[in-house]
Amino acid sequence: MTCTSSAPCDVITKAEQGGLLRREEISGLISLSDSQEIERLYQAADRVRAECVGEEIFLRGIIEFSNYCMNNCRYCGLRRDNMEAMRYRMEEGRIMELAQVIKGRGCGTVVLQSGEDPYYTGERMCGIIARIKDETGLAITLSLGQRPFDDYKAFREAGADRYLLRHETANPVLFAGLCPGRSLDGRIQCLKWLGELDYEVGMGCMVGLPGQTVEDLADDVLLIRELGADMIGIGPFIPHEDTPLRNEVAGDTSLVLKMLAVIRLVTRDTNIPSTTALGVLDGDSRRKAFQAGANVFMPVFTPRDFAERYDIYPGKGNVKKADGAIIDFKAFFDTIGRPVGEGPGGRRKRS
Ligand code: SF4
Repeated sequence: MTCTSSAPCDVITKAEQGGLLRREEISGLISLSDSQEIERLYQAADRVRAECVGEEIFLRGIIEFSNYCMNNCRYCGLRRDNMEAMRYRMEEGRIMELAQVIKGRGCGTVVLQSGEDPYYTGERMCGIIARIKDETGLAITLSLGQRPFDDYKAFREAGADRYLLRHETANPVLFAGLCPGRSLDGRIQCLKWLGELDYEVGMGCMVGLPGQTVEDLADDVLLIRELGADMIGIGPFIPHEDTPLRNEVAGDTSLVLKMLAVIRLVTRDTNIPSTTALGVLDGDSRRKAFQAGANVFMPVFTPRDFAERYDIYPGKGNVKKADGAIIDFKAFFDTIGRPVGEGPGGRRKRS
């Protein structure tokens, strides 16, 4: 492919070869607008993905077991003040049944996800984690939000392997405006604790937030690199009608894909999912993400009666129904020429 200008090509080559990108080089890549240059960025990320994590796409089966949340994030449909949300908590027996279904479908990892729900005390969660580990042997990823250090420690000792805690934005002012009562420093402290406890740690951000700049996105990449995340989830901001941000404009999927590609180039051997949120804005974007650096797919196994109520952003329920309709993961990934990975699919350098 012929480059239309030398500068982006030079930076893409530098990144592909493992060079340490500066902030302005990262923001330059995220800002690319020429379709040939963007394609070159995706292709470079795809080659680095192939070299560093291989061809397999690993499956993580998600169970959204509670949509109660004590927080009030201004973008989120599960926020405490959303009185339209129909709340639920899943019985432990139902969670166990779903974990067995996930194992039976060939996923090596179960992801337990909820709002920040104080009903699930450290002790209660440890019981669920230990039971899943004992009865299924699956790798366990938790996505339960910010918790005290002692909870993280107890979960790890009970058998949890990984923890997803998106930082959402590396801009502390933007963060404080989005998450009342919370600070970026507090979020980073939790991520550091998780690293100290030897979890595989997942970070991630939203793209297209109101007031977010390209430099903010470059800072997201730098923060992810600085904290040494093992997994990175990137998704577009999607306005939810029952939140204060209902009238804002949704993030752009091509910007998300460029971020994903840059993060692959910068982080090399991490696990990067093609996220559900991407599929909400553009059904084909989840597929495109696998050609721009992604190597993980996270099908949702929450039963339909609950899944439609796990409404962080609008449209999520529809994509999840599509997940459920994908009976044969192998056939789905055959369409992009990639095999389904077997086993837990942890970060290679750690396993
Ligand atoms: S983003 Fe998470 S912590 Fe914030 S309101 Fe939604 S579920 Fe709760």
